Amino acid sequence: MPEELICITCPLGCRLSVERLPAGGLSVSGNRCTRGARYAEEELLAPKRVVTATCRALPADRCRVPVRTAAPFPKDRVEELIRVLYSLEVRLPVKRGDVLVPDALGTGIPVIATRTLD
Ligand code: SF4
Repeated sequence: MPEELICITCPLGCRLSVERLPAGGLSVSGNRCTRGARYAEEELLAPKRVVTATCRALPADRCRVPVRTAAPFPKDRVEELIRVLYSLEVRLPVKRGDVLVPDALGTGIPVIATRTLD
């Protein structure tokens, strides 16, 4: 039974039908371009998401610093990353785009601030 996916790579939103091949790999149909096949493969074999969270601000404990990963992050490790980010303390001031974690959980993906706080 094929799996159905909507490609979110561009606004056309093609409806993809994906079958897992017995020899491994995937057969993708319904995509209008090759990016749709790449999207389906990544989504089914190694899904990733941009992770957003907030971190404790120091010394001002009254606010939190909004952060996100600078690139999509492996979905199966998102909970682990969220735990790290919620326990992280960020000393103010911080500027939007500052790298707060250079290599999140050894993935090579940085976590950056998304807001400037004095
Ligand atoms: S398959 Fe190509 S044309 Fe269709 S939504 Fe994805 S990127 Fe857009």
